This record gives sequence, C-alpha cells and structure tokens, in this order.
Amino acid sequence: MSNDNHGTQSGDNSLNVGVGDFRGANVNISHNERPTFTPEQLRIERHPALGGLSVDSKNVSVFGYITGVGTMIGLYFTLYRPPFGEQSSWSTFFMFLFIVAVMAVVMSAVLRRRKFEHFFGSRHYLEISQAGRLRVNRLTAQCPWCGSLMHLRRVGPTEGPRDDKFICVRNPAQHTVQLDPTVLPDIED
Ligand SMILES: [Zn+2]
Repeated sequence: MSNDNHGTQSGDNSLNVGVGDFRGANVNISHNERPTFTPEQLRIERHPALGGLSVDSKNVSVFGYITGVGTMIGLYFTLYRPPFGEQSSWSTFFMFLFIVAVMAVVMSAVLRRRKFEHFFGSRHYLEISQAGRLRVNRLTAQCPWCGSLMHLRRVGPTEGPRDDKFICVRNPAQHTVQLDPTVLPDIED
C-alpha cells in the first residue's frame, strides 16, 4: 500500500476532523510515550536484601511439597478427629502453613520462568540466578533526566494492574521509567 499523503494538512492550526488524509503523517496518540533506556544508561544497580541470603529454588519446591503434604495430614486430624482437634487454633495454624507451602511451590515455578517477581512491600523483588538460586533484591537507577536516585517500586491501584517503575526521588511525578525485567543482566553466582 502506498504511503503517499493525498490530503491537505494546511489549515489555521485548529483541529480538522474528517477533513485530512493522515496516511503517512506521524500522529502521536499517546502523550505518555517515553523514550526507552538501556540498563547501562539507567545505571541500574541491584542491592541484595536479607543480607544477600539466597536459597536454591529446588529446595523451595521440595520444602513446599513436604510442608503441603504435612499440613494436609495435620488438617485432616484437626478437622475430623476431635480428640486431636478440640482447639480450632490448630486448624488455623495448618491452614496458614498450607498457604505458605502452596506459595512456595507456585513462586519457585513462576520464578524459574520469569526470573523476576515482585516480593513484598513496594521495593523488594525476588530474582533467580543462573544457577537457580532465589534472591531478594532492591533495585535502583540514576534518573536519565536529572541524575537523581531512582527506586524501583511496584505502583498502581490496589485492585488494578500494577507496574514496576523506577521513580525519581526529585521529580517522582514526571521522572518515571517502566522496567522491562527481561533487559536486566543475569545474576551470576
Ligand atoms: Zn529525575
């Protein structure tokens, strides 16, 4: 298809609807369109949390399965065998452990695929290294507009879609960069 522009774009700078032929014209629909930056330009740095603690993701899965089976047995006895389960606090405890177990299995499975996942709070992220070890990191960058410090944060409505953005400490409203975690360098052990 020809990209020639057959219409006229002359006018008095008012908005002409349905008059022009915009083929070939560069119409910028999004006002939020931002330039993209490389990790080098942003000077992205990882800051290990929890004292740089790392856990083998296979161990996390195994822990999850064992705890999951254990809590199922525990729940069975507390719910259906009254002699063992007079106190409902035990079933609450086992329910809690079961959720922890399921989370552990799901988290390590998701992380093996995505390598990067929001963890807790607004600034902590779970990452997986090349050798399959889980680590908790905070990430910072240098603002490409003003050179100030930026923190990677999980932002957005509580019930809505949330984004991981580097937010400038000096101009948090305008200086933001959305992170594509796939551009982050791999973590070597
Ligand atoms: Zn800035």
